[in-house]
Amino acid sequence: MAVIETHGLTKRYGRVVAVEDLNLEVQEGEVFGLLGPNGSGKTTTILMLLGLTEPTRGEARVLGLDPMREPLKVKSRVGYLPDQVGFYGELTAWENLRYTTRLLGLPEAEARARIEEVLKRMGLWEVRDRRVSAFSRGMRQRLGLAEVLLKRPKVAILDEPTLGLDPEAAREFLELIKGLKAEGITILLSSHLLHQVQEVCDRVGLFHKGHLALLGTVEELALRVLGGGYEILVEASPGLEEAFRRLEGVARVAAEGGRYRIL
Ligand code: ADP
Repeated sequence: MAVIETHGLTKRYGRVVAVEDLNLEVQEGEVFGLLGPNGSGKTTTILMLLGLTEPTRGEARVLGLDPMREPLKVKSRVGYLPDQVGFYGELTAWENLRYTTRLLGLPEAEARARIEEVLKRMGLWEVRDRRVSAFSRGMRQRLGLAEVLLKRPKVAILDEPTLGLDPEAAREFLELIKGLKAEGITILLSSHLLHQVQEVCDRVGLFHKGHLALLGTVEELALRVLGGGYEILVEASPGLEEAFRRLEGVARVAAEGGRYRIL
């Protein structure tokens, strides 16, 4: 079953095309990576999936729901970790999660049990009574993931979750994501970092200026970052040549003996 589907999903801001004619299916239990440089349309796609911004054209379905028509249902069933996680800094980690459980309408005992479970799982149990304003970026992100898990979601959407984390914290975070996958949670992850996507994702969609330029399994795409910057060198596996030819209408593609550089 497709947990996330989009058909011709398009978002324009005036003349700026943020996302153009996106057709995507994310299957149950899959970890799907939205890969692309800054400004390529990843966040806009996510905002449309959550019903936070209205598509100019096309439609999205999440767990069979239209997020524009049923945003509350989508909000209560989908775990979302935004790129800027917002917490009440003057409240402790426990208090922040307790507030979320109230919003979710969980009964007291159930709420306490869930909060304990997710805080322990995210390695934050010991610091539960500390104010969040004193948390490092890595701790905040883990608290964000704890909050996502409070809902026991079937699908989690994580927007650049390792941005601003030091390498060790990023590594720990990727391990936590793998844990969610092992539990069968469908995950949509956006990142501009190829190695992260390669490590945790089953399939990858490569975004380029609002277009889904390439789509395939991590192995099929055999993507490699060209040192520095956001240039991506792609070694096309057989069958992908056609995709690259289509891509030439969208991006400048330099072919070098079976390799393609997307500029
Ligand atoms: P990414 O998440 O890949 O960094 P975004 O989805 O944030 O990309 O942005 C895609 C494009 O849409 C960019 O050119 C960005 O400047 C533009 N954009 C995003 N949000 C807005 C907005 N609210 N108003 C105008 N342009 C926007």
